[in-house]
Amino acid sequence: MQNKENLISKEKTTKQNRIWVRIASACNNTCLFCLDSEAQNWTFPSEEKIKKDIIDWFKPWMENRVIISWGEASINPKFPEYIRFAKEVWYDRVQTVTNWNMFAIESFCKKVFDAWLEEVTFSFHWHNSTLHDYLVNTPWAFKKSLKWLIYIKKYYPNIIINIDIVVNKINVSYLPDIVKFFMKLWVYEYDILQIIPFGRWFSTYKEKLFYNVEDYREKLKETWELSKIPWMYMWTNRFYPEVFEWYEDLIQDPRKIKSEVMWESYEIFEPFIKSKWIIKPDCYWDKCDVCFQKQYCHDFINESNVLKSDYSNYEIISWEEFPSLVFAKYWESMQDFINYLSKINKPLINIPKCLWWTWIYQFYNDIKENDTLEDYTYKYIKNLYRKKSLRCKTCKYNNECKWIHLNFIRSYSFSLLQPIK
Ligand code: SF4
Ligand code: SF4
Repeated sequence: MQNKENLISKEKTTKQNRIWVRIASACNNTCLFCLDSEAQNWTFPSEEKIKKDIIDWFKPWMENRVIISWGEASINPKFPEYIRFAKEVWYDRVQTVTNWNMFAIESFCKKVFDAWLEEVTFSFHWHNSTLHDYLVNTPWAFKKSLKWLIYIKKYYPNIIINIDIVVNKINVSYLPDIVKFFMKLWVYEYDILQIIPFGRWFSTYKEKLFYNVEDYREKLKETWELSKIPWMYMWTNRFYPEVFEWYEDLIQDPRKIKSEVMWESYEIFEPFIKSKWIIKPDCYWDKCDVCFQKQYCHDFINESNVLKSDYSNYEIISWEEFPSLVFAKYWESMQDFINYLSKINKPLINIPKCLWWTWIYQFYNDIKENDTLEDYTYKYIKNLYRKKSLRCKTCKYNNECKWIHLNFIRSYSFSLLQPIK
């Protein structure tokens, strides 16, 4: 069952204003699964633009975190200067994501930590040289990285170190072992990322790197189980929520979809939505089947109206932005929520048949306004980001069912849904 404490503590972190600033369109590794490769042309954005982004995206009324990232940020010669600048703008936390290569220079470590870099996410995709070096396509990468991870742990013990792992067909069976290996080095924060179908080598490596999550459910579960170890802080990224049954606190915040389509991808997705899905992104077609975003890009496009505008005789069960708000508006426990639904004397909207006898949903056509990217994304997150359990396959309503909003699953777990035989 999901861990409510973890869920609420992660909620605090996701309420931060987190911004990603690109300072390099270049990298000194050539990972097979790189999702940034198409944006790389061996240039650095101008200092003026970088500093403007850092200033413009700061929100004084919030806790602010800047992640200096994209490409390999540390190869920009002004990297330490941008760290210092972000601290001067008053960011609460300055973080970077790196492949380690630059951190293998003692003087470089001193410079960036003196500039007040506080958190470093290092990418490791295996726990020995052979396959890590193969996956990042760089000889000696693992040995060097490991040496410097140990160095920083020893000489800069206050720096927060976490590890990100891109999960793919080659390493998925060993995922629990990879995490356990780094736990022995006292790393207790992980970002586990599902591979996504972008980058230069997708067509070459599709068969080798992409896997069917259902075939590896046990290994994934074994990994999620490690999230329950005290002090462990595990985040997941771009996985289908269905793989987290019993571990629902690991499901990514639905609002994360905004950062997928708004930031650097704005120019791709804005015409797509504005043209009512006619001007398609380049990735449309062959990549969609292995993409975590398929529901956003495909599933609600052709839905027809099920309701007309008069909702007065219905009770709309709408999402709440955070699980803590779901608990406050509805109930703390799953059973109380079910009892609450059963006592409402109107037909319910947005609730599946296993929880209520009516079967009425809002679709995008019911709630559309301007067809802008912001509008669709907001409406998608608020109303359409619905999911069901893998167990639903045994339910007689499986094909027609339109599921329940993800935040109810995050709050009450997948066991809320009970297949009807
Ligand atoms: S689902 Fe969307 S983002 Fe993913 S490959 Fe298809 S069009 Fe691109
Ligand atoms: S398919 Fe799943 S969510 Fe839908 S009615 Fe059946 S059990 Fe409930």
